[in-house]
Amino acid sequence: MSVPEGIPGVAPRGIVHRPLIQWIDALLDASPWSPSPGSPAAAVSVSGNGVLGGQCLAIALDAAGPHGASRVADAVDLLGRNVIVAFQHDDPNRSAGIALSAGSSVDDRFVWRIPPDPMGRPPAFTAQEWAIVGLSFADAEVVGAPDRRALTHWEFAATATEGEPITVRLGGIGFAPQPSQFPSGVISLTFDDSFASQYSIAYPAMTATGLRGTLVPIIGRLDQPDYLTSVQVAAMATAGWEISGHATTDESHKLSLHRMTPEQRFVELAQIRDWNAAHGYDTDTFAYPGGWFDAPAAADVMRFFAAARSANGALVETWPTTQPDRIRTIVVKAATHPTLDEFLAHIEDARAHRAWIVFTFHGFSEGEDRGPYDILGDVFRGFCAALAASDVAVLPMREALAGRAVY
Ligand SMILES: [Zn+2]
Repeated sequence: MSVPEGIPGVAPRGIVHRPLIQWIDALLDASPWSPSPGSPAAAVSVSGNGVLGGQCLAIALDAAGPHGASRVADAVDLLGRNVIVAFQHDDPNRSAGIALSAGSSVDDRFVWRIPPDPMGRPPAFTAQEWAIVGLSFADAEVVGAPDRRALTHWEFAATATEGEPITVRLGGIGFAPQPSQFPSGVISLTFDDSFASQYSIAYPAMTATGLRGTLVPIIGRLDQPDYLTSVQVAAMATAGWEISGHATTDESHKLSLHRMTPEQRFVELAQIRDWNAAHGYDTDTFAYPGGWFDAPAAADVMRFFAAARSANGALVETWPTTQPDRIRTIVVKAATHPTLDEFLAHIEDARAHRAWIVFTFHGFSEGEDRGPYDILGDVFRGFCAALAASDVAVLPMREALAGRAVY
């Protein structure tokens, strides 16, 4: 089956609430930026192909360390607002990370870092793309005691890996109001790969506390030993769970979309959509198999779905999302999230910063004898009880994206 020309897949019907971005006019002017201490003057220049104002700040990078530019501007009040930054890589494969700093003085500042994926997966950004990313104060590193209502000191810095120098451009800095839909933040719980314990352990815990999640099944695993049954999936859907798109088979899951040909990818995505439609599972979201994607894979997914979740550690966006094809997640592994306290800290993070946090779970276990992704039932039940007791909204991904419960 070849990809039919001009056929846009299945048009996604879901609503994705988008941020209302307001660019900070003074910061669109690239001229007043000067090299940060330690950065060579030649590394910083004003370039002519900006995304917004016709010009942008270009920073030439090498592996010698972060090079950056900084400036002081009239005070900006970001209370109740998320930060928006527009940047472009000429070679994202060799980016060693970006840092944006906003301070009320040189010593008092918030710092956001956009690192490369620690697992070496394809970069979250593509060459020459103007990425527009929303940053939450929940993710800022705090240096000193910055005043969020009077930010005056700005710095944009980046580093390249070994090899030829590359260029990173800053196109603009702005903000978006934190919308009123989720005054105490929102959390989505997603469950990948059809493990049976998602029904036997997670589902009862969620149901007992009035919570609903997003199931992200590998379709071919259903009704196989140790995996969910079709009847269980149907029961979860009836109870208001979202049944999201992921993979048809173990083979396609392992291959992952970015290693498929465009024809394979089209068939895979169409079959997932067909399966969802045939069962009445109304969804608009997808999760990249293995958490991996590249630009062509993301573009194809967006022909079928309104949003896609990744596991790329470089992603730092918040809600409302500026990049619905790159929803970030916290992949919960027993090795890295063993305690209830860590889950409670995430709830507090979402609440304090009106952030959206998406968790990815795999298996669950009632005993200590468990796999690397299995979470203890007691810990998960404690998490559900704490979520239910908090004022943080808990919604399946599609409802969080839309900014409202639709069940
Ligand atoms: Zn998976």
